[in-house]
Amino acid sequence: MTNPLIYDFNFPEFAARVKSWGEPSYRGKQIWEGIYKNLWLAPDEFSNLPKALREKMGELLTFEVLKPTDFRESKDGETVKTLFELNDGKKIETVLMKYDTVGRTPRRTACISTQVGCGMGCTFCATGQMGFKRQLSSGEIVAQVIYHARKLQDQGEKLTNVVVMGMGEPFHNYDATMTAIDRLNSLDGFAFGARRFTVSTVGLIPLIKRFAEEKRQVNLAISLHAAEDELRSSMLPINEKYPISELMEVCRYYVEQTHRRITFEWALIDGINDTPEQAHILARRVKGLLCHVNAIPLNPTRGFKGRSTGNDRARIFKETLEQAGVSCTIRMHRGIDIQAGCGQLAVKDN
Ligand code: SAH
Ligand code: SF4
Repeated sequence: MTNPLIYDFNFPEFAARVKSWGEPSYRGKQIWEGIYKNLWLAPDEFSNLPKALREKMGELLTFEVLKPTDFRESKDGETVKTLFELNDGKKIETVLMKYDTVGRTPRRTACISTQVGCGMGCTFCATGQMGFKRQLSSGEIVAQVIYHARKLQDQGEKLTNVVVMGMGEPFHNYDATMTAIDRLNSLDGFAFGARRFTVSTVGLIPLIKRFAEEKRQVNLAISLHAAEDELRSSMLPINEKYPISELMEVCRYYVEQTHRRITFEWALIDGINDTPEQAHILARRVKGLLCHVNAIPLNPTRGFKGRSTGNDRARIFKETLEQAGVSCTIRMHRGIDIQAGCGQLAVKDN
């Protein structure tokens, strides 16, 4: 049997485990802080512990969760994609994005995965095109964040944001995803503010309802992409099960419960969902709802023929929405030259 992953424990479980080795009770807290405050990645980094205990940690726990096997950096150096091998040989990807604005704290955003592949089958998404392989555990999700935080720390920088928008549908792995966020948020450890996380879902209504009722401070993004059922179902098969009117209803419920703004994601596809008519339909759907539209010109993927919207059409789409009272930003392409853009994450040999 393999040893449990260090990142899969919550604090009480971990403290009990360390105590069960015959250690004094303060040791659990000491190790926990080494992991989540100092970002130590292996037993030999715990210079504050006796050698015998470090050896025990190495014998009884698994520290190596993610093996980085490939890095790709975009030409502008602002986006880095990392390919990791998990302990069963399956592979996932994460992306680190750097945004530097004069006079502002540099933004360092990690885009993390929640599943190997994805079972939602969205036609324009490379992860969808590869199908569902398996769920990640909470520890495997936590480890992606700690990996990037540590890497940045070694460069004298700090992780500022986490977007759960990598491979997989986070609400199809709800418990592990929320457990990971709660653990990283916890003040006795990594203490990463809830509002620095954004979770993006394709629109699994019962879980959006649950998320609303839990009144989390985590930002919510919903992949909408179309405001009419026929069109949306042709791109996002899940729309057959959870149609737009019901999705909008649960979005209103979410805002009522949390008073927080929802972000709608919209991949602009030339001639399909980027017309002023589509913008008007969208504006009618979201009328009066506290929301923002994040439109992003489609990123190319092998399995989808649609083309990206040009700048002029994107601008008109944005202006049409704004004139109808809906705020909208057009996100720039990022990391496209290394297939690290939204919906481009896929690993062939899983
Ligand atoms: N499964 C979640 C989160 C991961 S996808 C979700 O679907 O929301 C992250 C975002 O990238 C989603 O909004 C998704 O719709 C979008 N996306 C997928 N493929 C894309 C592509 N080819 N171009 C642009 N955005 C894409
Ligand atoms: Fe899955 Fe999101 Fe891609 Fe759809 S867009 S297939 S839900 S990862």
